[in-house]
Amino acid sequence: MNTLVINTGSSSIKYQFIDMPSGKVLCTGLVERIGEGIGAITHRKLIEGENSDVIYNEKIPTHEIGMKRVASLLTDINYGVITNTSDVKLVGHRVVLGGEKFSTTSIITSEVKNAIEKLSVIAPLHNPPNLTGIHVAEQIFTDALQVGVFDTSFHHTLPDYAFRYALPNYFYTEHGIRVYGFHGTSHQYVTGRAAKMLKKHVDAVNLITIHLGNGASITAVKNGKSIDTSLGMTPTSGLVMGTRIGDIDPGVLIYMEESLGINIKEIKRIINKESGLKGLTGFNDLRLIQEQYLKGDQKAKLALNLYSYRIKKYIGSYLAIIGNVDAIVFTAGVGENSDIIREMATDDLSHLGIQLSEELNTSKSKIERDISSETAKIKTFVIPTNEEFEIARQAYEIFRTEK
Ligand code: ADP
Repeated sequence: MNTLVINTGSSSIKYQFIDMPSGKVLCTGLVERIGEGIGAITHRKLIEGENSDVIYNEKIPTHEIGMKRVASLLTDINYGVITNTSDVKLVGHRVVLGGEKFSTTSIITSEVKNAIEKLSVIAPLHNPPNLTGIHVAEQIFTDALQVGVFDTSFHHTLPDYAFRYALPNYFYTEHGIRVYGFHGTSHQYVTGRAAKMLKKHVDAVNLITIHLGNGASITAVKNGKSIDTSLGMTPTSGLVMGTRIGDIDPGVLIYMEESLGINIKEIKRIINKESGLKGLTGFNDLRLIQEQYLKGDQKAKLALNLYSYRIKKYIGSYLAIIGNVDAIVFTAGVGENSDIIREMATDDLSHLGIQLSEELNTSKSKIERDISSETAKIKTFVIPTNEEFEIARQAYEIFRTEK
């Protein structure tokens, strides 16, 4: 089944063409800098024996033109994998915020599109481009079932005492202010993989899943369901991130405005773009910070300590709310690659049953693996995330049940 997975950002379209249910990726690509001077398209065909990359630098004024270029590359005689756009039978769209309405993957209808649009008030940076991606894909891939896969769906199972903030009730009832969570597709994917590694049914696993990319979040999974997560209504709470602040006393923001005279727009920029690892060191790329740390740099040392201390604090609190935890899972750029962070976030936790094997933690393996010591009661896994596959899987599930 020819399945196209699309992740549309404000100036980009990421895509993967996947055969389902085999999960075989036939090609991947990225259209960047849409609407800016000169854009770029990187397209990679992955058919055995003929892997090939092409890069085009050209003006891409709109998402529609970007998506037409994707269609032309998919059908290209040399770099394509299909002969006609009508060969695409299923399109899975990543939608960042599905709010309370979407507890599962949904076939795109005009009602669904209206709902995504309404939710743009809460996710102004993400939902509008996601919707644009849906509109243009509908025009081009006319024979395909279009399906929305919501990043928030996995967190739909949070109990009210976990998703509510202790604000006056009307902020929730009238304005929808609550925890929605993010990275749900990634947390759900690694939950499924961890269940396989534990040889348990997914509904029987208890996990702490830790997604550490540029954005970062940690989720408590009980019986295969998300019961708490560190990102909230916006992607700024919880763990320290590349440029985002993570948890902070909200009174500090009021102090910045009232006593330091920084206006709210600037505070928003600071907590989203200038904070986190970047605020502490000047760099948001953890690789550079690790290099500085190994040279003895004090700012880098503080940043890594703070970053991993915050993860450890959440691990402790999630151990308390879940009960018997089977495994903790590290995923995404930092989680998959940084043995230093994995070690710092879990050292001295052997009294709680968590202990890494130094040898397994520092191995350069790129595949999913168990890195815990033989005596650890709670396993520690590294599982490369695969959000595109999870989107394709969920979209295919809907397609299969529709037929
Ligand atoms: P995004 O959230 O943009 O999808 P990724 O999951 O790709 O991000 O993670 C990006 C981060 O992963 C980078 O900021 C980088 O610091 C970190 N990273 C990637 N490779 C390594 C590595 N080998 N060691 C440490 N950190 C790494």
